[in-house]
Amino acid sequence: MADWKDTLNLPRTGFPMKANLQTSEPQTIARWEAMDLYGRLRAAREGAPTFVLHDGPPYANGRIHLGTAFNKILKDIVVRSRSMAGYDAPYVPGWDCHGLPIELLVDRELGPKRRDMTVAACRQACRKYAAKFVDIMREEFKRLGGIGDWARPYLTMDYGYQATIVRALGRFAEAGSIYKGKKPVHWCIHCRTALAEAEVEYEDHASPSIYVEFPLSPDSEPELASRVPELAGKPVSVLIWTTTPWTIPSNMAIAFQPGFMYGAYPSGDTNVIVAEDLAPQVQRAVGRTFGSVVARIEGRQLEGIRFRHPLCGRESPGVLADYVTLEQGTGAVHTAPGHGSDDFNTGVRYGLDVYAPVGPGGHFDDTVELFSGLRVFDANPRVEEALQTRHRLWHRESFTHSYPHCWRCHNPVIFLATSQWFISMDRNGLRAQALDAVSKVSWVPAWGEERIANMLASRPDWCISRQRYWGVPIPAVDCLRCHEAILTPTLIARAAEVFEREGADAWYEQPIEHFLPPGFACPSCGGQQFERERDILDVWFDSGSSHEAVLGRPGLTWPADLYLEGSDQYRGWFHSSLLVGLGTRGQAPYRQVVTHGFVVDEHGRKMSKSVCNTIEPQEIIEQSGAEILRLWSAMVDFREEVRVGPEILARVVEAYRKLRNTCRILVANLYDFDPATDAVPVEQLPEIDRYALARYAAAATRIVDAYERYEFPSIFHTLNALATVDLSAFYIDVSKDRLYTLAPASAARRAAQTAMYHIVDGIARLMAPILPMTADELWSHLPGRREDSVHLATFPGHLERLVDNELVERWTELIKLRDQVNAAIEAKRKDKVVGNSLAARVTLGAPKATAALLERYRDDLPMVFIVSGVTLAESAGPDVAVAVDRTDGVRCERCWRYVPVVSADPKRLGVCDRCEDALQAAHD
Ligand SMILES: [Zn+2]
Ligand SMILES: [Zn+2]
Ligand SMILES: [Zn+2]
Repeated sequence: MADWKDTLNLPRTGFPMKANLQTSEPQTIARWEAMDLYGRLRAAREGAPTFVLHDGPPYANGRIHLGTAFNKILKDIVVRSRSMAGYDAPYVPGWDCHGLPIELLVDRELGPKRRDMTVAACRQACRKYAAKFVDIMREEFKRLGGIGDWARPYLTMDYGYQATIVRALGRFAEAGSIYKGKKPVHWCIHCRTALAEAEVEYEDHASPSIYVEFPLSPDSEPELASRVPELAGKPVSVLIWTTTPWTIPSNMAIAFQPGFMYGAYPSGDTNVIVAEDLAPQVQRAVGRTFGSVVARIEGRQLEGIRFRHPLCGRESPGVLADYVTLEQGTGAVHTAPGHGSDDFNTGVRYGLDVYAPVGPGGHFDDTVELFSGLRVFDANPRVEEALQTRHRLWHRESFTHSYPHCWRCHNPVIFLATSQWFISMDRNGLRAQALDAVSKVSWVPAWGEERIANMLASRPDWCISRQRYWGVPIPAVDCLRCHEAILTPTLIARAAEVFEREGADAWYEQPIEHFLPPGFACPSCGGQQFERERDILDVWFDSGSSHEAVLGRPGLTWPADLYLEGSDQYRGWFHSSLLVGLGTRGQAPYRQVVTHGFVVDEHGRKMSKSVCNTIEPQEIIEQSGAEILRLWSAMVDFREEVRVGPEILARVVEAYRKLRNTCRILVANLYDFDPATDAVPVEQLPEIDRYALARYAAAATRIVDAYERYEFPSIFHTLNALATVDLSAFYIDVSKDRLYTLAPASAARRAAQTAMYHIVDGIARLMAPILPMTADELWSHLPGRREDSVHLATFPGHLERLVDNELVERWTELIKLRDQVNAAIEAKRKDKVVGNSLAARVTLGAPKATAALLERYRDDLPMVFIVSGVTLAESAGPDVAVAVDRTDGVRCERCWRYVPVVSADPKRLGVCDRCEDALQAAHD
């Protein structure tokens, strides 16, 4: 018998089934670079409405990890999808280059050499270090398939950027918002620097918890007796509680809540004052039983009453403060203005000394009796010991609580009043302005607005100085005559000019005159001798200025349309960018802020080296390809914590494979199709093809809309359902007969090809933002004239003309019947009545309404069910009855359909009429 296989139009394509992404991806990326895809896309979109996603700069000190990769991929999906939606969507990647982590790493690398190097030389080493990691990370980001201005990224250490930072600072100086003051700030004695709010992490920490007695000062006895006569002539003390014994030497006052009732209780040889409501628990804590109360005292009566410091000759006055609560302690609060925010504010109100006798490394200075030279945490037991010897320590125990730690070295930090530069939140209404601006920004998820608003409402003034060297110097000078710190707009403007030209290293290399305007004199005393400031700016000010440095580039616009970062940036980059934007332009630098969650393992655990559950992006790329990482990024709900692990990735690989295969079958059926000459006008297509196009159009519309709203998981879900349910399981299946067996140029075959062409062309565009390399590869195998890259194209347009809801409704009904028929055939196949479904003959008994539908599609039914014949019968019942039996026809050796007769002609032996026609047409 003849082999007719060669006469069939079997699918063929160069688009491989096996993706081989590890090899093909780098080639695609190299091709994009060679063709300057980014530059050509900018040119192609010139004049279109812009959409600017402004990149938050990752820190340039390591290889990228999964969280960074996830962030960059999400951004790339946004940038590419906006571009395909027709926007001019430039993307300038950036890096945060200054700051402590690099400085510490470089110091460690330099070792002892460091001591003999100038600051400028150390800065050069830091610059080299950062540049090295910018290059490493850039290659890794590019490997993810991201499009952007990789050749011209923004670096916070670029001279121009350094000048921008200083100019932004100048705007605050012009407004008079900058001041230098002594204030308690979070201070890491390990890193020897002040820490910003965003640089502090709360971790559990065991502190000593001590109860300390302060006896009444003899000088205050008459005063207290006049206010509280019951206490006249009696020994009196107050009991305080603290978890930082080392701050006792800095105690300057004891704070009482004015409205609370306090009691004086006999205990040992004194009458101790504690808050009435706390007395029972204080007795339990210190293990003493107090006698009956001898006097009740209102908190406000204790203002100005003086107590003796338990360790030195100083006196500690009673002060009033609203923040004193009944939550813990004694209701009498140890107050050290040099070591606490509340304490400091109280100190300012009462004119107390802001005593902070602690050096940058955490050592007590010489003014501290008994403990000078000790490190604060080491001083804790010594303070307790000294109190014990003086019988002032009533109790001590260990107490675990949430305590601020340094985000870099993870050591506990202290509160320390030091001389710092601040941007005032309230002097010029920055706080109110910020709260107003926040309400005008669109936050996704919506809770972001409340989160950042709460932070802004309660945050202290912005401490912008750091006692380090790798950063942008604060271009202030100290008057050598009156010791006034001077930071004026003119000084700043001058420094900006120099930095722009020579880089900020000049601050450490050039004589100070280089930075002084001619004839510059101290505004306070007229002095003309100055010393330069050694502090640098908080790096959050650097990255917070990025909108000023970047959005002014040609083609970009201020404010940005979108900032997209992890949810930790509410207190980080979103926050500092907002404040800088308000300082420079009185407006938020972004219209919309979208945040994503963090990456956790398959069980929802944080990734950590100690649990051995980390997965590096490089690993995934090596094993499966960057497209798999990208597809995973698009499939997870990024607003929540996102899970990843081997099982999840295996599912992603499977999903990718299915989608790729569907695309491959579609394109493989187009090998002889030229859309310019072979396409059938949509309105002339048979219903089956219009049904497929209508399903595709509905999916495409949903997908384009989901891109617009950043609902990436629904994109893949929709694409996947289209590919597997509508196409693979139905349309491709029922179209095979037409495509493979009819004459190549027959109208019915061209109709199926037309629909498949529109669909696969659309799928390539729709998946391009998520799977840019696969889409571009597919694109290159599609017929017809088209852009050099799918990324220069746009999302499919004119989808409305493909929509036909009534048609879809009718066909949905038919497909439901098809499922029922398939089930019936399957049962017969099990009983060995039929093998291939084409050997089956189906009789359908249907109620009236369904019968009418079936009648209408009588000729299409064998194709829809993939059977050799369908007989329609009437049925009285409400359900459709399906009967299946074996056809009595003979099998055509070419198309495998069963027909009444096949040809006996030796040249056409075993072939049906339809196949004869097809062979004849091909021959002609
Ligand atoms: Zn530290
Ligand atoms: Zn002066
Ligand atoms: Zn045939």
